[in-house]
Amino acid sequence: MINTRKGSVWKRKTKEMEKDPYHLVSSDTKENNNKKRKKKISQSRSKAKQYALVTYQELPEYMKDNEYILNYYRANWPLKEALFSIFRWHNETLNVWTHLIGFVLFLGLTVTNLMHVPQVADFINIFTWSFPMSGDQNVSHNSKDFFSGTTKLIDLKQTTPQEMEISSPEMAAARWPFFVFLGGSMFCLFSSSTCHLFSCHSHHLNLFLLRIDYVGIAVMIITSFFPPIYYIFQCDTLWQFIYLGGITVMGIFTIATLLSPSLSTGKYRPFRALLFVAMGLFGIVPAIHAVIVNWTEPQRNVTLAYEAVMALSYLTGTMFYVSRIPERWKAGWFDLAGHSHQIFHVFVILGALAHYGAALVFLEFRDNVGCERSS
Ligand SMILES: [Zn+2]
Repeated sequence: MINTRKGSVWKRKTKEMEKDPYHLVSSDTKENNNKKRKKKISQSRSKAKQYALVTYQELPEYMKDNEYILNYYRANWPLKEALFSIFRWHNETLNVWTHLIGFVLFLGLTVTNLMHVPQVADFINIFTWSFPMSGDQNVSHNSKDFFSGTTKLIDLKQTTPQEMEISSPEMAAARWPFFVFLGGSMFCLFSSSTCHLFSCHSHHLNLFLLRIDYVGIAVMIITSFFPPIYYIFQCDTLWQFIYLGGITVMGIFTIATLLSPSLSTGKYRPFRALLFVAMGLFGIVPAIHAVIVNWTEPQRNVTLAYEAVMALSYLTGTMFYVSRIPERWKAGWFDLAGHSHQIFHVFVILGALAHYGAALVFLEFRDNVGCERSS
């Protein structure tokens, strides 16, 4: 073996001497250049091979989660490659985009609604309207009329500026529970997108991001309770405190459980789903209570319809998430589009939008009906 190798080195050297008889280029430099070239070729080859999509069988153990998705996996990609894979087709592309679009949608709704908050509208007003009319004492009323007169996502009580001056501070319901829900939804959707985009990077990051994804779902469920409970029980602060406190404690327990590393594995998928469903079912108690309290309110049916759509969306989504339908019926057919997780994502957005609709009705109701009238 050694002799043969020595022989081949000798042969190569003689060939080089024939090509370069005056030794203008030293044989060492040539050899180094050759080595460098070969290294470069092998590096670029391995790079191309490394960032190619792989099959389920080729995946590292920590990424083997859904045996019915057979192809188009990214595995152990650097963060930069993972980031730019948002524009490539792989089996996570639609998982990333569905919730990214949802995030942008909720960001838009948040910004639009913030424009209707008098303080924010006044703040924007400083930069837009106050220059020509800085001396105008009624500038804040002008801005309020301007913003509430355009796209009315929150239909503020229709009053004259004089009426508003007297009744507005007491009558207008607090906006923060509504924005708590919007913030929670945005956190959930964004963390989900991030998780799907970067979880192919390393085992460590995969575990961390999965946990953040579950925490995002828990946060969305908890924050969803804030608008309905706050506005329905606005005049009964004890129940408001009991229900909001209850769901917050339950949520903190769920988040602590989800953050424990041993529960992030695929084995505990049904347990995690059960935790989320339990949190959702917790809502039945205040919902029945609310129906009794607001039995005579005309908005009751509208909000119930919205919340029924929300519950149905979340339940249907969870069913897809747990059952892995349709890919379990035809493994490999839904690798890129149409697998259970993508369907689950779409139902999460539908559920959140339905709940947003209900939250708007609750807010409008509280803007119009204060505690003096309802109790
Ligand atoms: Zn997801």
